[in-house]
Amino acid sequence: MMSTASETSRPPSWPSPTAAYIHIPFCRHRCGYCNFSVLAGRDDLADRFLEALRWELSRLEQPQTVDTLFIGGGTPTHLPPAWLERLLQLLADWLPLADDGEFSVEANPGDIDRPRLERLRAAGVNRISLGVQSFAADKLRILQRDHDEAQARTAVEQAAEALGNVSIDLIFAAPEETLEGWQRDLAIAAELPITHLSTYALTFEKGTEFWTRRARGGLRQADEDLELQMYQYARQAGAAAGLAQYEISNFARPGRQCRHNLGYWRGRPWYGFGPGATGFLAGQRRTNHRSPTTYIRRCLDGSDPAQECETITVEHWAYERAAFGVRMIEGVDLEAIRLDTEVDLRKTRSQEIADCRRWGLVRLEGEHLQLTEKGIAVADTVSAALL
Ligand code: SF4
Repeated sequence: MMSTASETSRPPSWPSPTAAYIHIPFCRHRCGYCNFSVLAGRDDLADRFLEALRWELSRLEQPQTVDTLFIGGGTPTHLPPAWLERLLQLLADWLPLADDGEFSVEANPGDIDRPRLERLRAAGVNRISLGVQSFAADKLRILQRDHDEAQARTAVEQAAEALGNVSIDLIFAAPEETLEGWQRDLAIAAELPITHLSTYALTFEKGTEFWTRRARGGLRQADEDLELQMYQYARQAGAAAGLAQYEISNFARPGRQCRHNLGYWRGRPWYGFGPGATGFLAGQRRTNHRSPTTYIRRCLDGSDPAQECETITVEHWAYERAAFGVRMIEGVDLEAIRLDTEVDLRKTRSQEIADCRRWGLVRLEGEHLQLTEKGIAVADTVSAALL
């Protein structure tokens, strides 16, 4: 059921963004499961890309201080040192970080070394997210990743020494993966000096090489029971390693939750720059063209790189905040949403919330809606009901 505009009499007062995401599309090659906006093997475009990004950032008109800055990709650290330097300078010029801000960079284990980590640290980076995905040779080969276990271990250790705040991503339910294999990945992760872990089941996205190979019978997707067993094992292993689950796919040591991602789940606005990047600003959600070459061309022509622009009504914002917020293990405060939006989900979603409670998926204590143990495994169903 969609709400109507009459549900709110007050015009939305959108908070100003205090977060920024910058998408860097360069990668050495495209992994078979990846559907991100990526330029593989086209490092020759780095110069034009940075010029395009500079143009897009200049549309801010003046520097905007942010509390969280996240450089993702792609593989930002794949940029050669001189270009990485230019990128960091551009961000320092246009998106200065607040004191005590969080500055995250994504990296692949094969792309970092001590000098590069030192340069990141000097530029204010205080958190790194490493695309480890696995430590097992067979699984890494199937996923088409180009590092091995030794490189992944070294990368985590060096990053921990340089930055002290290291997250790793691990994929589970890869083709041919067993529960024992997944347990080994998690056991190695637990030995390493990480502060944060993100785990995602492999998804087969339309348009990827994996999608085509699965359709032709060349790759077999893990069955749902095994995927669920793996997910539940990750939750146990995370807790045993002192990494508390704080969102469906995310675990952290105390105080080391990703502040940038918490902002998304809490419905805070953010700036987005780069190909395929989405920004959410003053009730508008704008997504740049996914094709890096089109993005570059548009920016260098001085035309808008956005491909989609969606107006988010204050009602829609309320439902999104509930749908994303409920994915956090702490749950979501429906009264806070009501105060910001005048949408009272206890009324407008009363039937859906009652159904989810009857099925044992959520608990509602006062104004606080939270997934139950049973609900954590089917969070997408609960989110869809609230949206
Ligand atoms: S390294 Fe990451 S972003 Fe690059 S192709 Fe592989 S999965 Fe995609």
